[in-house]
Amino acid sequence: MSPKTLSNFSVLLICIVLFASAVTAKTKETGEIISVSLQKRIPSELDEGAFIIVNEIQEWKAGETAIIICDMWDKHWCKGATKRVTEMAPFMNDVISMAREKGVQIVHAPSDCMEYYKDHPARKPGKKYKFKSVEAKLGEGMLECEKGAEWPFKISGGGCDDKPQCETGSPWTKQIETIEILDGDAITDSGIEAGSLFMKKGIKNVILVGVHTNMCVIGRSFGLRNMVRLGMNVVLMRDMTDTMYDSASWPYVSHFTGNSLMHEYIEKYVCPTMVSSDFTAHKQFRFENDTRPVIAFVTAEGEYRANQRLPEFAHDLLLTRDVNCEFALGRPITEGEGRHNIENLQILRDADLAVFFVRRRALESEKLEMIRNYVTSGKPVIGVRTASHSFAARGNIPRVEQGIDPAMGRASSFLSVWPEFDEEILGGNYQGHYGQINGGCDISVVPGMEEHPLLKGVDPEGFISPGTLYKNKPLRSERAQVLLTGNIPGQPSEPVCWLNRNKYGMAIYTSLGHWDDWEIESFQNIMINSVDYLLEIKSK
Ligand SMILES: [Zn+2]
Repeated sequence: MSPKTLSNFSVLLICIVLFASAVTAKTKETGEIISVSLQKRIPSELDEGAFIIVNEIQEWKAGETAIIICDMWDKHWCKGATKRVTEMAPFMNDVISMAREKGVQIVHAPSDCMEYYKDHPARKPGKKYKFKSVEAKLGEGMLECEKGAEWPFKISGGGCDDKPQCETGSPWTKQIETIEILDGDAITDSGIEAGSLFMKKGIKNVILVGVHTNMCVIGRSFGLRNMVRLGMNVVLMRDMTDTMYDSASWPYVSHFTGNSLMHEYIEKYVCPTMVSSDFTAHKQFRFENDTRPVIAFVTAEGEYRANQRLPEFAHDLLLTRDVNCEFALGRPITEGEGRHNIENLQILRDADLAVFFVRRRALESEKLEMIRNYVTSGKPVIGVRTASHSFAARGNIPRVEQGIDPAMGRASSFLSVWPEFDEEILGGNYQGHYGQINGGCDISVVPGMEEHPLLKGVDPEGFISPGTLYKNKPLRSERAQVLLTGNIPGQPSEPVCWLNRNKYGMAIYTSLGHWDDWEIESFQNIMINSVDYLLEIKSK
């Protein structure tokens, strides 16, 4: 090593040391940065009264973040509720431990149990501050629904789902022991105390976990509503909650679908939700008795309102099919920053059916791998309209992150694409579409297919679709069974809905899926029949 190289080397070393100590100082001050994926439903600007589903990634400083654990009592008056808390608690304790490790403030809030904790060291920070400015912002309201909204279900007997129903009461004495209370944690069941602690510590982000979404989680003095009133950035961790809903009450769905309906409600009217995977990097929690099939909706397009129509479809499925619906979302844009990304794709690991409504996205190869892994595992696929060119981005799309591509193990400058998805999985042959026709496109049932299970409830005379007609002829699969064709004047008819057995499994594709198609009963039935067919649900 020459003296010059040596001195360069020393400079480099000094730089590294200085840089490292700067980083340490920063992490000591605010803790780690946590990346959270927030799911929310906001009013549509295109369709009055409708909601769209959106995803937003936020980077939070752990030191500005708190988790409130709501009413995870040792015992509930409802036996079923107690059992579910017991089942969820070990997983929740892991999530809490990981968050605490990162520097998140943990607040234990077992309501009505402060007497039990009066000498606990964590009670001291819990009751240390009571600011008038905080008290002034808090409101009341446990059981009224939000203004302009309606509860998604009714309950009887307090929402107890046991038979016979349990007798109500207040048997709780403390938080369930499975959840550890450690140094630095706080105990309080007061919104003023919790809010004041947050003000004092500069906490801006609050995650609620615990039970029950339609009661205490939303309505307690430290609950979602009051944390929103305090101006906190509030999120419900939706896989770490439960609901008091009994299946004997409207809309007569399973207990777990009641929980899902409540998540929808909260995302629409109260605050976003997230899942524990952001802390654990593992699959989200699911109750053992929640055996509902999981449908993963993967949507990323900016032309056909998939971010409105698919959640509406998922809601119908919740009510009629007792399934569990999850969303992986890309931004609903056709151009511009953030187009080539889809978040939450880890739901595919757990899915029994995936519905794709994606248009010309390139992805980090790691993410595209998750999609490939799902599809090549042989699990079923539904493709809607632009799905044929889901991953056929035009041109080379540069990666934002330069350098080594973690999935490929080598340097890569471009995002990955999969233009063969159309041929290989759907059996399609997308080559653009015809122009808009006045009076729409004539959709007909292929002769001989009238009795096919996918066409149950479809008008045998056909129907009119308002969208443009996609060119897909000839299909590129010998095992595709065409069920519907589309016709416009002066052009050959085109396949618009088919079932394809590809080399991995089953796929159903339709080039229909314009936002107005979802108003047509025949189209709605095709979509529901497709889910029934692929999940082998016996129709009721
Ligand atoms: Zn009960």
